[in-house]
Amino acid sequence: MIRSTMRCLAIICLALCMPIAMAELSLPRASAVPGGVVMVDIEGDSTEAPFVSFEGDAVMVLPRERGWVALVGIPLSRSPGPAAIQIRRGASTLTRGFTIEGKQYRTQALKVAPKHVDLSPEDTARVEREQPHLRAMYGTFTAQIPESLRFIPPVKGPRSSSFGLRRVFNNQPRNPHSGMDIAAPVGTHVVAPAPGTVIDTGDYFFNGGTVIVDHGRGLVTMYCHLSRIDAKVGQKVAAGDKLGEVGATGRVTGPHLHWGVALNRAFVDPALFLESANASPAPGAR
Ligand SMILES: [Zn+2]
Repeated sequence: MIRSTMRCLAIICLALCMPIAMAELSLPRASAVPGGVVMVDIEGDSTEAPFVSFEGDAVMVLPRERGWVALVGIPLSRSPGPAAIQIRRGASTLTRGFTIEGKQYRTQALKVAPKHVDLSPEDTARVEREQPHLRAMYGTFTAQIPESLRFIPPVKGPRSSSFGLRRVFNNQPRNPHSGMDIAAPVGTHVVAPAPGTVIDTGDYFFNGGTVIVDHGRGLVTMYCHLSRIDAKVGQKVAAGDKLGEVGATGRVTGPHLHWGVALNRAFVDPALFLESANASPAPGAR
């Protein structure tokens, strides 16, 4: 009885562990700068993944042929210099340090409708209601291992402005640009770049028509300014499935897709996850 239970458990364990162990995911390109992704190898052959955190947020840990790798998203707002992850295994915690290099992102001046810069009291109240919800959405961390870390572009089209630009709206400095803009006509299909689950849809003050997809372990992608939403909360999507259509809703200068990629709550450069030949060079590349 015990032996057959043990064998049964062993088979279940094999069934659970083998696809993970055998199918090593292709990692995104590493870039140790604000807005980049740092990969940290963690030794150990334990079958139980260590719990890793970076500055208070859980970090994606993936099995490798030997040991594990932690994928750490570095916030755009993080200053360069020494940084560390905490690695917890059972009762023991150890710290692993790495260095965040500096990166100068260019400044971009934009003209938008004044109501999107000097907010009315009603719009301020709306933004204050929306922001905690959006922060919770892109800070989602589920146990599911992503099926892929190599994305297809969600829209075909030229990238009209790049990640990390320091934005000045109507002469007023605002947060840096936390995603990739892809210019395309209104109505162009926006598709999921990788498998995931739709966790939010809505119409937000700055983002306009929005869809948010959870890919697992803290990797969350966001599609903004949509003219039409075709996805439903809870829906599982495959790479290439339609999420909606390009629009010019929210704070925009014209029709385009704003594509955000969050990892452990930090928005990172989506180009690091693209494998197409026209992907922009990784930060730091020449
Ligand atoms: Zn944008």
